[in-house]
Amino acid sequence: MIIVMRPDATEEQKDHVIKKIKGLGLQAHVSQGTERMVIGAIGDEAILRSVPLEAIPGVEKVLPILKPFKLASTDFRAERTIVRIGNVEIGGTKISVMAGPCAIENKTLLFSIAEEVKRSGANLLRGGAFKPRTSPYAFQGLEEEGLKYLAEARERTGLPVVTEVMDPRDIEMIARYADVLQIGARNMQNFRLLKEVGACKKPVVLKRGISATIKEWLMSAEYIMAGGNHNVILCERGIRTYETATRNTLDLSAVPVLRQMTHLPVIVDPSHAVGKWDLVAPMAKAAVAAGADGLLIEVHANPEEALCDGEQSLKPKAFKQLMDELRLIAKAVGREI
Ligand code: PEP
Ligand code: MN
Repeated sequence: MIIVMRPDATEEQKDHVIKKIKGLGLQAHVSQGTERMVIGAIGDEAILRSVPLEAIPGVEKVLPILKPFKLASTDFRAERTIVRIGNVEIGGTKISVMAGPCAIENKTLLFSIAEEVKRSGANLLRGGAFKPRTSPYAFQGLEEEGLKYLAEARERTGLPVVTEVMDPRDIEMIARYADVLQIGARNMQNFRLLKEVGACKKPVVLKRGISATIKEWLMSAEYIMAGGNHNVILCERGIRTYETATRNTLDLSAVPVLRQMTHLPVIVDPSHAVGKWDLVAPMAKAAVAAGADGLLIEVHANPEEALCDGEQSLKPKAFKQLMDELRLIAKAVGREI
């Protein structure tokens, strides 16, 4: 249930509504827009149906929510959410680019990639320290040692850092080093993990599950938001289809669809979607043209020797060229990079 307050509603009236909702055993989530306040009542809607909320002074209207996701929906919040990470804003007119290696392999390599992507205009540095690998025998990541390198790379370049969290037990430690927590595709429906990152205040990049519908993906965002963390960035990274020419199939229509369904920023990861470095640039450009708020791109100084996802990683030179081309596309759609 969504309760829209009148623009002239007083603080006392707003507090009264919040108290009333809580008194019925429901949670009250407040969204303060420029014009008016909207209160989301989260819980069993049946309880509220018998309460004449519209009779309360200050209440303009009460909207029943048919969508199973509430906090993430455009009904709850009409203005677009801008997630702020230091000086970087995701969801505004500027398009943000997160770039870096799939996995943090060693200090020197990470530092050199970090410098290169920064020089080309990336806004955030990505790098995995805990890697979700299909094979238990593949490189699993440097864990905390890698996070230390990542934090050092941030000191050197000034770029905020993004890294994946796979296990609720690691959140506290990872959050000490990272600026943004990434939930990988394989964990999109790890509900314990979603609840735990919801209790943490760090911005979250929530990747779309390998076979997840947009609705299921938004329900996962709802888990994080219901815990109190509204800084969620959705990341389309390709879904599994019958097509085998690419690693996954990039569902670019998810970008405009999500813009209608949610106020959360949407970014696109063409690297994991296509799985081949020479297909990354065209899809990155298409993503910007489709209205994405940002990109996540894998870059490696020596992809041939990469311990993870070398085949889809751009060399720094190709990344620079892509960034130059993206600036033109961004301008054409009224954005900037
Ligand atoms: C990654 O970003 O390196 C990664 C493992 O991505 P995904 O979860 O989308 O497969
Ligand atoms: Mn990867």
